[in-house]
Amino acid sequence: MTAHHFDVVVVGGGSAGSVLAARLSENADRQVALIEAGGAPTDPDIAKPAMWPFIQGRDYDWAYETVPQPGTANRIHPWPRGRVLGGSSCLHAMAHVRGHPDDFAVWAEATGSDRWSYDGLLPGFLHSERFSGGASESHGGDGPLPVWLPGEEVNPVVRAYIAAGHERGVPTLPDHNGRNLNGTSPNSLTIRDGKRVSAADAYLTDDVRARPNLTILTGVSVHRLVIDGNRVTGLAVTRDGRDETITGDEIILSTGSVATPLLLMRSGFGDPDVLRRAGVDCRLSRPAIGQNLHDHLLGAGNVYRSSQAVPPTKLQHSESLMYLNAADITEAKGVPDIVLGCVTGPSVSESFSAVAPGFAYTFLFGVTHPTSRGYLAIGGPDLDDKPVIDPAYLQTDHDRTTFRRALEAAREIGSSQALTAWKAEELLPGPGVRTTAEIDDFIARAVITHHHPVGTCRMGRDAGAIVDADLHFNGLDNLSIVDASVIPTITSGPVHAAVLAIAETFAAGRR
Ligand code: FAD
Repeated sequence: MTAHHFDVVVVGGGSAGSVLAARLSENADRQVALIEAGGAPTDPDIAKPAMWPFIQGRDYDWAYETVPQPGTANRIHPWPRGRVLGGSSCLHAMAHVRGHPDDFAVWAEATGSDRWSYDGLLPGFLHSERFSGGASESHGGDGPLPVWLPGEEVNPVVRAYIAAGHERGVPTLPDHNGRNLNGTSPNSLTIRDGKRVSAADAYLTDDVRARPNLTILTGVSVHRLVIDGNRVTGLAVTRDGRDETITGDEIILSTGSVATPLLLMRSGFGDPDVLRRAGVDCRLSRPAIGQNLHDHLLGAGNVYRSSQAVPPTKLQHSESLMYLNAADITEAKGVPDIVLGCVTGPSVSESFSAVAPGFAYTFLFGVTHPTSRGYLAIGGPDLDDKPVIDPAYLQTDHDRTTFRRALEAAREIGSSQALTAWKAEELLPGPGVRTTAEIDDFIARAVITHHHPVGTCRMGRDAGAIVDADLHFNGLDNLSIVDASVIPTITSGPVHAAVLAIAETFAAGRR
């Protein structure tokens, strides 16, 4: 057994962990370690934006899956998560959307801290971003992460869909990262010179890696926390098949919404019944760990056969999101309820057969603020034991009703004049699907994850919160959690930008 000691150990070299390693090691007096189970991202396909849907399931994917979901025709949903330096930012679809200011007002209320309001997080957003349109009051210009708003590269069918929104009175936005989110715009993408830029590419540059006070350990899997009294004294890890212990004065978990609660449970924190069933001694009863699991779903999809060839994407297939008020799609203000996305090919769940690409396009449709809440739990005491992941998809009336409205909005956009040059016929759900029962059945079979699970170690000031407003774990003196698991309620859009801003904000408090 070997021992290594650091001032700060960041566990998980994904999106949040990459930010923390870079920012916390800016202080040359602080010895920082970043520990990652996966290796370096050596697969060249990771860098190719259009490959993102096809790299899932490779050996750098944790490849989780949900339990069968009663709300989605008892389907099991694959949940890819990156197991590689850069984490899920090596798998993700590269859309950069901060969210609506009201999304963060809920976080500020939950924690009693303005740090987690939109204005509180704004310095973190700005600090992370290098926007192609340049710096402004609302856009970061010299941060590590390129945020690129494409121009002429946007697919013509996507332009027609944006025009269709305009025709229906949907506000046209310059991009998705201002204070208004209702409306449509091409997606801002974390792409530079045609290549994906992961959080590790952006933050763990050669200069940062060369710092003598930063140690990056890849291929090191953390099995459990080693605890003495109220302190984490070490991390029980395996490295090249050998058991080792890594110790730090301060430990930060950035293993993500799935792995962070599982690591806590393996270490004896959680629901005593769950732990007993899994063969783990309960150290501290914290039943809320792993609860509040929620995720965005997308209907895949409202598919159209095209009357002319759809050129292949020059970006990442899903080129424009449209955020809408369900009651009035022309409403510019306020937090959106539904989202549409335009994909340059046929996009369907495994329930349907896709037509060949080239003569089809798809509108994905979803609910921005689902109210269904599920949970996850360890299935055994070891890292390799399959977890129970139950996001409780479509378990509330709100979610089912709003999903119907989202499909209706997709069909409204799809039948606009601006798309007549493209639309030959609606393939899915198809003109025969009209009644509520038929629509619900279609939605249950069509929905797929939008890949945004959050909430399993939520921040807050109530007794059930897992971390407080400082992201300090309520239960151990020297443990913090900084990743997507602390998000108490999901943002309107994809969550990556918010995860980076959370990590930036946490690190700013430690300078
Ligand atoms: P991660 O980035 O997942 O990092 C966790 C890290 O911890 C990983 O590197 C993992 O290997 C490591 N780890 C886990 N367990 C252990 C252990 N026991 N020991 C050591 N290391 C461990 N968001 C967007 O905003 N826009 C998008 O377009 C988008 N598309 C997505 C598409 C896909 C397919 C996926 C998977 C996600 C997508 N997301 C998107 C979501 C976004 O990528 C995640 O929310 C974000 O990356 C989460 O960051 P994190 O730091 O919480 O976790």
